[in-house]
Amino acid sequence: MPDESSAVLTIDLGAIAANYRLLQQMAEPALCGAAVKADAYGLGAAMVVPMLHRAGCRHFFVATMEEGLAIKPLLPTATVYVMNGLPPGAAREMAGADLVPVLNTLPQIEEWRKYCADRQPRPAVLQIDTGLARLGLSHGEMLRLIGDPRLLQGLPVAMVMTHLACADDPEHPLNRRQLALFCELCQALRFGGTPPLFSIAASSGIFLGSDFHQDLVRPGAALYGVAPTASAANPMRAVVRLQGKILQIRDVDLGMTVGYGATHKFQRPSRVATIGAGYADGIPRALGNKGAVYIDGKRSPLVGRVSMDLITVDIGHLPPQACQVGQAVDIIGPQQPIDDLARDAGTIGYEVLTSLGSRYKRRYLANPA
Ligand SMILES: *Cc1c(COP(=O)(O)O)cnc(C)c1O
Repeated sequence: MPDESSAVLTIDLGAIAANYRLLQQMAEPALCGAAVKADAYGLGAAMVVPMLHRAGCRHFFVATMEEGLAIKPLLPTATVYVMNGLPPGAAREMAGADLVPVLNTLPQIEEWRKYCADRQPRPAVLQIDTGLARLGLSHGEMLRLIGDPRLLQGLPVAMVMTHLACADDPEHPLNRRQLALFCELCQALRFGGTPPLFSIAASSGIFLGSDFHQDLVRPGAALYGVAPTASAANPMRAVVRLQGKILQIRDVDLGMTVGYGATHKFQRPSRVATIGAGYADGIPRALGNKGAVYIDGKRSPLVGRVSMDLITVDIGHLPPQACQVGQAVDIIGPQQPIDDLARDAGTIGYEVLTSLGSRYKRRYLANPA
């Protein structure tokens, strides 16, 4: 029997496909790939990946080889790139699974080049660090690659990529500096055979204009409805709706407190609804006494701390019939997009998405509404 008290996470696969098509149109004539790391940002790669493939996506980016091994069987005709690099000694397994590693260091390049020479040439991606200082070839390593073509000999480079540090701020000067450095370094490299694809933009980078599109863009967050540019209206369709159930309703008197630590004290008699979702489900604990849910379309503020399995909200302003035990309330929904909830918690939509727990009943919608 289904547990009627559990929260429901609705994931609109049709909206993901619509978002993919919008980004693809914006990036044209560049190709549009998709970042599906971290189980498609927590939404379920096994469901999301086939939908993106149906929408036309042929380039999929994951973080780890494990993630790549999990989705590659769903994608016999698409390319799966492993962005966190080639783990030492993993060349055989990577190649055997038909995964394409993103080579981030000279030792990784050397290991792949050796595999290509000893067994068979297999494509790989080079990542250049142009200012994020996270993954990718350093400036010094790039100068060595440029100075010594033997380091890439017999290694088919399918793509050269970099990643922007400040793409969600269109005015940030680092965007243009990274673009210029990337182009300069790519021009200095010599490639045998088919020229590689060049790739810079993730979600936010697509909105920086066509200079940043190059040959292929690799959005993640925007596909899943997160706003790509902090200061602008969000053009993406919402993908996630998170509804909790009201488990209990109580009257509270003036002076009473609610929740651990007794952090909220009622200044007037009111009513409190207790909802069955907490930080174990990915509701940020930072929302305590800050955020709100929407009940019957009306904002109802969180009172007290977020606990592991529960939150409490003030419903004193709602008529009793608008708010009943068993009723679904929107934690993320039409009135409260994921970015608004994230802002109230002092975080970003990415973190909220990837934190959404496994305890929800998940419902996937397949058709564009
Ligand atoms: C995660 C990631 C992406 C996708 O980023 P979004 O901001 O979610 O669009 C693209 N490229 C790299 C290197 C990444 O790590």
